[in-house]
Amino acid sequence: MNYQANKQGFYGEFGGAYIPEILYGCVHELQQTYLQIIESKEFQTEYHELLRDYVGRPSPLYHAKRLSERYGAKIYLKREDLNHTGAHKINNTIGQILLAQKMGKTRIIAETGAGQHGVATATVCALMNLPCVVYMGKLDVERQQPNVKKMEMLGATVVPVTSGNMTLKDATNEAIRDWCSHPSDTFYIIGSTVGPHPYPDMVARLQSVISAEIKEQLQEKEGRSYPDHLMACVGGGSNAAGTVYHYLDDERVKITLAEAAGKGIDSGESAATIHLGTEGIIHGSRTLLMQTPDGQIVEPYSISAGLDYPGIGPLHAHLARSGRAQILAVSDDEAIRAAFELTQLEGIIPALESAHALGALPHMKFKTSDVVVLTVSGRGDKDMDTYLKYFKR
Ligand SMILES: *Cc1c(COP(=O)(O)O)cnc(C)c1O
Repeated sequence: MNYQANKQGFYGEFGGAYIPEILYGCVHELQQTYLQIIESKEFQTEYHELLRDYVGRPSPLYHAKRLSERYGAKIYLKREDLNHTGAHKINNTIGQILLAQKMGKTRIIAETGAGQHGVATATVCALMNLPCVVYMGKLDVERQQPNVKKMEMLGATVVPVTSGNMTLKDATNEAIRDWCSHPSDTFYIIGSTVGPHPYPDMVARLQSVISAEIKEQLQEKEGRSYPDHLMACVGGGSNAAGTVYHYLDDERVKITLAEAAGKGIDSGESAATIHLGTEGIIHGSRTLLMQTPDGQIVEPYSISAGLDYPGIGPLHAHLARSGRAQILAVSDDEAIRAAFELTQLEGIIPALESAHALGALPHMKFKTSDVVVLTVSGRGDKDMDTYLKYFKR
């Protein structure tokens, strides 16, 4: 089985670039140049220097002893929560801003849900002195004020989007609309392994530093470079793609991905795209998405704004359909319980998104000798309001 995108950006039947005519030129230009630039020595040097000195990489691989005892396996946490700006998103935005510069683009746009990708994009735009416009659903603007203020302090313009249910999907539509009106000077920094080819492949490559580090760190700590299990949460799929990238062809490594079940898969309030989705096209790629029989998008729901998306990256749709990855749906309640458990056992407050990966642990059957690597994609600072509501009960 092949898990890499082909020339047209397909992973099996998923992927591709379904774009309006007006974007053909700029998407084609990106398809033709991204690999050449990303693989160049100059790019690699600048990218890795920034990851080290600005982001703080490598992120630690931490043996969580008390959590390990609880679940009967040797559990390591890949600590993306310790990165600058608090999540894995910055690995990708650093790479894309360098690419934008090298392609001579002078204006940056982005979409954001909870605001983590917006902050990571506004951060690299400040760093590189490029103007930045971030599209954000009006509801998310109201729910995520601290991140809105951070983006503004960083110099970005935050545009509240009032279409649809005013969340991530609608922000993405609006960013694509902007891109269509400024195709020549504007670079669209997409925040996950979604969108038209080459974005899913490009973002997966930029996040693959996560699994490159896991390999080295496991070699050092365990004397072998692979784990028995890899676990991560999936919204669009970027932290998961980074976590599994260098292990995709290694069948010794079992992959488990956690998507958001919201109030339960059958509750009608869920974002379990892989469980509930059917084939369709969203934001430029063919993938699994939550839709009605006549193709209207079903509004997703999750307690975690970062997982609240009706689609999924085409790579992940392929990993699920081919059986390479096991997909578990983890509910709001299970994620909250897992967040408190990690906090009390290890003194680490995870992001609500990452708590879904942790919430998959009770569903796993481990052998005591198993080595497990679970990616903590971000820290919980942004979610304190939500956690406190549960704490009081
Ligand atoms: C955005 C986000 C996610 C979900 O996005 P992926 O592309 O699926 O990784 C997960 N965790 C955190 C902390 C995030 O900010």
